[in-house]
Amino acid sequence: DTSHGVVLYLDDISVSFDGFRALNKLSLTIDTGELRCIIGPNGAGKTTMMDVITGKTRPDAGGAFFGQTIDLLALREAEIVEAGIGRKFQKPTVFEQLSVQDNLELALKTDKRARKTLGFRLSAAQRQRVEEVLVQIRLEDQAARRAGDLSHGQKQWLEIGMLLMLDPKLLLLDEPVAGMTDFETDRTAELFASLAGKHTLVVVEHDMEFVRKIAHKVTVLHEGSVLAEGSLEQVQADERVVEVYLGR
Ligand code: ADP
Repeated sequence: DTSHGVVLYLDDISVSFDGFRALNKLSLTIDTGELRCIIGPNGAGKTTMMDVITGKTRPDAGGAFFGQTIDLLALREAEIVEAGIGRKFQKPTVFEQLSVQDNLELALKTDKRARKTLGFRLSAAQRQRVEEVLVQIRLEDQAARRAGDLSHGQKQWLEIGMLLMLDPKLLLLDEPVAGMTDFETDRTAELFASLAGKHTLVVVEHDMEFVRKIAHKVTVLHEGSVLAEGSLEQVQADERVVEVYLGR
């Protein structure tokens, strides 16, 4: 049963760059279906944490486990994607010259299983997946549109849609609403609410209004480890968190 239990477990992860500890015995547990927001001042280690989970950075010490059995530190980046972890960086990286639909189909073709299917023809299930994702990201009326002509928010949703094509268990998102209008931000909050449960979302975010809207739970990172964890109200009421944000 994959509908509950721990999806991600980081155990005492440490990462140093030239003697500087970017992560310092970081431990974190995320439950299946959760929508977790990671906050913390610049340099807290948020990006380094995402890099460890996705295999981009190797920790000096500690463990990282996906689901009950998968040792992430034993896998390469591509194998981690294959295992069901999708990551979206802050800037959209859609193929601007291609249509929305082609972007979604292309995302499928990076998948090992899809590459084994005949030529460029999608299976019925894959065609259905494209339709489903178009509806999820609310671009069903824009399928034929050139991706480069979309608004900033629509490009971000398209890129999330590209990740969804592979049906990842865990989605890692870096400041997904940066640069969005209020309208686009609200729609993104709705999208995330609809994805949580079926997927697990870990969102690095600076926009506290957005965090308030979406987070089931918030983790505050500081100097490479967890400073506080709980609801946004709980962590914002924590004196240590207040001190860190005031820069004392
Ligand atoms: P955040 O994403 O929370 O702003 P980062 O994980 O990017 O924090 O960075 C944590 C610390 O590690 C910062 O002080 C940063 O300068 C340092 N750091 C990150 N990556 C590298 C690197 N490749 N080489 C040297 N220092 C790095």
